[in-house]
Amino acid sequence: MAIQTMNPATNEVVKTFEPHTSKEVEQKIESADKAFRNWRKTTFAERAKLMQKCAGILDNDAEKYGRIITLEMGKPLKDGIAEVKKCALACRYYAENAEDFLKDETIETKAEKSLIAYEPLGVILAVMPWNFPFWQVFRFLAPALMAGNTGLLKHASNVPQCALAIEEIIRKAGFPEDVFYTLLIGSKEVDAVIGHPAVKAVTLTGSEAAGAHVAATAGKEIKKTVLELGGSDPFIVLADADLELAAQNAMKSRMVNTGQSCIAAKRFIVVETIANTFLDKIKAKMAALKTGDPLKDDCDYGPMARPDLAEELQEQVEQSIKKGAKVVLKGGREGKDSAYFKPMILSNVKPGMPAYDEEMFGPVAAFIVAKDEDDAIRIANDSRFGLAGSVWTKDHERGLKVARQVESGAMFVNAMVASSPEMPFGGIKKSGYGRELSYVGIREFVNQKSIWVG
Ligand code: NDP
Repeated sequence: MAIQTMNPATNEVVKTFEPHTSKEVEQKIESADKAFRNWRKTTFAERAKLMQKCAGILDNDAEKYGRIITLEMGKPLKDGIAEVKKCALACRYYAENAEDFLKDETIETKAEKSLIAYEPLGVILAVMPWNFPFWQVFRFLAPALMAGNTGLLKHASNVPQCALAIEEIIRKAGFPEDVFYTLLIGSKEVDAVIGHPAVKAVTLTGSEAAGAHVAATAGKEIKKTVLELGGSDPFIVLADADLELAAQNAMKSRMVNTGQSCIAAKRFIVVETIANTFLDKIKAKMAALKTGDPLKDDCDYGPMARPDLAEELQEQVEQSIKKGAKVVLKGGREGKDSAYFKPMILSNVKPGMPAYDEEMFGPVAAFIVAKDEDDAIRIANDSRFGLAGSVWTKDHERGLKVARQVESGAMFVNAMVASSPEMPFGGIKKSGYGRELSYVGIREFVNQKSIWVG
């Protein structure tokens, strides 16, 4: 795919970018490696000062950067602005806490003194997706820089202006020029970057296929990876749930980012006694949403990020219908070549259908009826994914019990799944491994060194 900004609301190619040559890429890797030797010696206070400046820029210029996001991948402007502001939160969180998270940890042993020291590794490569083109990058970059690492970004080919804007923000904040570079390269060039001896580890957020490929290459090089891949999060509604609250959150969780979120609720698993009531409620809420120009205030959801993604989703829907799924809310792709996709609900969703087995990365809700609580847990776990999920019940203890039985990296009781800087984020099964955010995330790309004295 060419590196270009194509506005998905209009299909207009706004700007095309010349990819960096392999020589340019090598120079940037080497500069980032050289910069690491000085950067690792800076104090946490020095790094925090720059990271706080970065947060200030993100807050002050949220509208400017939000517009770039909207133009490149189609989310409503208000959501783009909120995303940029969330990045400021992550920068502040790590500016304030990194020193504490990485301070020496004394361990009692028979030695006179023994401790774990957390030391930076060097140049870390981030391969990132288009769905949250700022947030996905900052949640890697803020902890990486605060830990004393330097970073390289290979962003998705459809969001080059976001990638360059992030480089600009880091420079404006006053970070040394070489501690972070955007590489304008295609995915085929990634293996060579991973193979460069200066690159010490890789983090990837994206599809299973991209994750498996990058992890295999890094594995051959004995380099650590963190993978944040897809999900098919269950949204479990029990008989005693507040159905209005659950339906409101179900709609929001399915429609976030026009359904293009790894932690969007995708499978709605509802016990049979309340199934029809809940279905009517969520149908009414999804049907009431408005689309249009994502730059305008009255747009609830924008186009999908690229026409080919809408086409792929339509194909998953059609395959599911062929295998017996029923259309409860009519919708789908708005026309050939369009990236707009109207929300849909499919019921009678069964194993063997894409809506049950695969990730549906767009505004299509799969509705599944469970006999009871145990059956709902069984269905929730009947998935190759294990990213997150939620359970809805008025009984918090019961919710907690269910949450512990679902195979996933996170569970929310009576709340929509969302990431926040304080809590670890990541999955199990085919959703990946490793964690981002919290103190856990900043320790992924450090050498956890044991030191033993006498
Ligand atoms: P990809 O996984 O293909 O893209 C994500 C990133 O990985 C991009 O930077 C991409 O670069 C890069 N990449 C892709 N293949 C390779 C490779 N073989 N080696 C190195 N880097 C690679 O996502 P798509 O845009 O194709 O979306 C397809 C599906 O992926 C979605 O429908 C969804 O299911 C899932 N997805 C999940 C996301 C999540 O948040 N977990 C985010 C985005 C997608 P380039 O753009 O140049 O190809």
